[in-house]
Amino acid sequence: MRTSDIRQEFPLLNQQVNGYPLVYLDNAASTQKPESVLSAIGDYYRSLNSNVHRGVHHLSQQATSAFEDTREYVRNFMGASAKEEIIFTRGTTEAVNLLAESFSRGILSPADTVLATVSDHHSNFVPWQQACLRSGAKFDVLPVQANGTISMELLEEKLRQKPRIVVFPHISNVLGIVNPVKQITAMAHAYGALVLVDGAQGIAHCPVNVCDFDCDFYVWSGHKIYGPTGIGVLYGKKALLEQLPPYQFGGEMIEEVEWQQTSFAALPYKFEAGTPAIAEGIALKTALEFVHRVGFDAIGQHEADLVNHAFEGLKDIEGIEIYGEKTRHSGVISFNVKGVYHYDIGVILDQMGIAVRTGHHCAQPLMKFLNIPGCVRCSFAIYNTVSEVEYFVESLQKALRMLR
Ligand code: PMP
Repeated sequence: MRTSDIRQEFPLLNQQVNGYPLVYLDNAASTQKPESVLSAIGDYYRSLNSNVHRGVHHLSQQATSAFEDTREYVRNFMGASAKEEIIFTRGTTEAVNLLAESFSRGILSPADTVLATVSDHHSNFVPWQQACLRSGAKFDVLPVQANGTISMELLEEKLRQKPRIVVFPHISNVLGIVNPVKQITAMAHAYGALVLVDGAQGIAHCPVNVCDFDCDFYVWSGHKIYGPTGIGVLYGKKALLEQLPPYQFGGEMIEEVEWQQTSFAALPYKFEAGTPAIAEGIALKTALEFVHRVGFDAIGQHEADLVNHAFEGLKDIEGIEIYGEKTRHSGVISFNVKGVYHYDIGVILDQMGIAVRTGHHCAQPLMKFLNIPGCVRCSFAIYNTVSEVEYFVESLQKALRMLR
């Protein structure tokens, strides 16, 4: 499919911002939605709206069946073996909180260690740090190398301390580095550690097969993959999920409620208390169908082209520092320019219609590690074009002339 055809499917992109055509380069924060996803949400409320899993009536059964169709689609999309392994959450953050909370209630003890990385997003860092504070377990942090990659030697050194669980990002939301999930997982397993992969940035950019990765948990958010906000996924190996206590309590997640105690529903419902995000869940399948239609080969190729163009344009800018090793980049580039405050660059680019992100990117441990207060991040999606990248580089040069 041509990028111009793909762009036609995204109505939001066709607008002006501050008098210029919008150039949306903040896709790592959230992607735009194709018309098919917007219609799926509207169609649900227009013709299907009803609570799921409860009613015998027609609408409820139709809504339940559409919602459960997404679960099956997600299972297949991620290469999971059973639908019970797919838990719907509000997003990556809630999925990690679910795990960290469950682990801190009865699994983690003061004898245990949780190993995170310095490049983890706060969503995969703080819940574990807090779970350790609650349970008395040790919270250990793996530094990255100067080029942003994980050192396998250093990882192995940490693994010798026998952490209970190792958590890391599939793709860093700041450095764009793609971590070798399969290799890290195999190494962690060899030392008896469980593995949680934060796939918030991975899911939209490369094929994910959890059976092939062999990771124990993989979490992601719908809004990062052309889907709605408010819906995300926790994949977990069935045997492990069965051992974990529920995270929230209420409707949907029970089997039998007595005055003094309750038995809980089977997977996946044990972890899905209350009414889920039904419209969003149904529309998530439409988003994944869009990605499937475009294909990860085309997505990977196109984003690599954009990243290469951006690197070419940025590298000659005087005083620029680009973070992370070029060869392992997905569609994210973060940088600073000497003598210029990152926030000011973002403000001026916005005046030219360009949306980039500035700040700490919810990765303060990494900012501290890099010894910077923040940086500018541009991040690409399948609908971005090479001419947008060129316009971005030219506009950045103009902004720098104004700021210096
Ligand atoms: N992890 C990573 C790597 C992310 O990039 C993000 C979103 N910026 C999150 C976790 C959190 O995702 P959400 O806000 O959708 O829960």
